[in-house]
Amino acid sequence: MDTKNLGFNTKLIHAGAYDEPLGSAVVPIYQTSTFKFKKAQHGADCFSGKSDGYIYTRIANPTIKALEDNIAALENGFGGIATSSGMGAVSAIYFSLLEQGSHIVSTASVYGPSRGIMEQDFSRFGVEYSYIDTANLENIKAAIKSNTKVLFLETPANPTIELTDIEEAAKIAHQHGIIVVVDNTFSSPYLQKPLDLGADVVFHSITKFINGHADVVGGIIVTKTEELYKKIRHAMVYMGSNMDPHQAYLVSRGVKTLALRVERAQENAMKVAEYLENHPKVAWLKYPGLKSHPQHELAKKQMKGFGSMISFGVKGGLDAGRILMDNVHLALLAVSLGGVETLIQHPASMTHAAVAHEAKIK
Ligand SMILES: *Cc1c(COP(=O)(O)O)cnc(C)c1O
Repeated sequence: MDTKNLGFNTKLIHAGAYDEPLGSAVVPIYQTSTFKFKKAQHGADCFSGKSDGYIYTRIANPTIKALEDNIAALENGFGGIATSSGMGAVSAIYFSLLEQGSHIVSTASVYGPSRGIMEQDFSRFGVEYSYIDTANLENIKAAIKSNTKVLFLETPANPTIELTDIEEAAKIAHQHGIIVVVDNTFSSPYLQKPLDLGADVVFHSITKFINGHADVVGGIIVTKTEELYKKIRHAMVYMGSNMDPHQAYLVSRGVKTLALRVERAQENAMKVAEYLENHPKVAWLKYPGLKSHPQHELAKKQMKGFGSMISFGVKGGLDAGRILMDNVHLALLAVSLGGVETLIQHPASMTHAAVAHEAKIK
C-alpha cells in the first residue's frame, strides 16, 4: 500500500498490511524457518534477487516484513530492519557503518550498553570513539576528526533527560560527510521523527514504547536511503540479529495503539512532574515539558510532545534514593520503559552503579 499520504494514526493501523491470500484481517504469524521453492530455477531467482520470494527467516519473513514496513512508514524512511533486540540494532549499525581506523562521535549519556560495546569490544577492532555532551553543538564540531564516520545521538538521553538539536547536529555532520544515527527509543516515532529532521538512520528498542506492553524484547532500524538499508540489512542478516515472527506479530499488535498510549502517558507524566517538582523532599527534577528544563524550547521545536520519562533527585542522597525504591507500592521497581505500567528505578545504585564516582557526580 502507498502510505505516503496517510495520516500518522492511519499508518499505525494500515501501513505494512498486505493482501493476505486467505483474507486474514491481521497479518498471520508465519512461524517457519524456511520457504519452499517451486522449482530449482525459482530458488536460483530468489537468491539472485530476480524474484522477491522468501527464502529463510533470518533473511526475511512476511510477518516480520509487515512490521518493518509499518515502522518505516511511521518514520518516513526507505525501509525497516527488525532485530532481535535494541542492542541487536545497535550492533548491526556499528558493524556496518564503522571499520578499523574509523571514528565515532556519540552522546556521552547514551544507553549504557551502546557505549559499553564500543569501549570494550569495537575498540578491540581498532574503532576510535569520542563520548561528548552533544547538547552543546560546539562540542560536536570540536570532536569531529578526518576519520569520523558516524555521529550517534540519543535524545532525550537516559537518565539525564538532556536533548540534542537533531537538525543542527545533522547540518554539522553532513558538512563532513558523516552519517547521522539517532536512538529514538525515548520519544517513539509519534513524538519525534529524526529522518525528517535530517538524520540518516533512526533506530528503536522496540521493547519500549512501540511494543508498549512489556512482553517483548526487540529492535528496529529505519534508513533514509536504499543504500544504507542494504548495507545495514546485510550486517543484520550475516550477524544473525534477526527478529522472530512471533515477536513481530506481538509488536504489530502493540503498535496500533502507540498514539493513544503515548498521549495518555505524557498527560500523566506532566501531572507527576508538576507534583514532584513542588514536593519538599525533591531536590531537582528534569522533564522537558516543564519550563524549568533548560531545553524546554528545543523540546517544543523538535518533538510533538514531551514524552513520559522523568528524572529527579531526592534530598538525602544515595540512601534516600534507596529508601524511596524500597517503599514504592503501585509503581514497579524495574528497569525498562514504555509499557503501560509505571516503572521506577535508581540509576545511582542500580543501572549506573558501575559508573565511576566522578562521572556519576558530573
Ligand atoms: C532499552 C534501550 C536500548 C536497548 O534495547 P534492548 O531492546 O534492551 O536491547 C537502547 N537504547 C535505549 C534508549 C533503550 O532504552
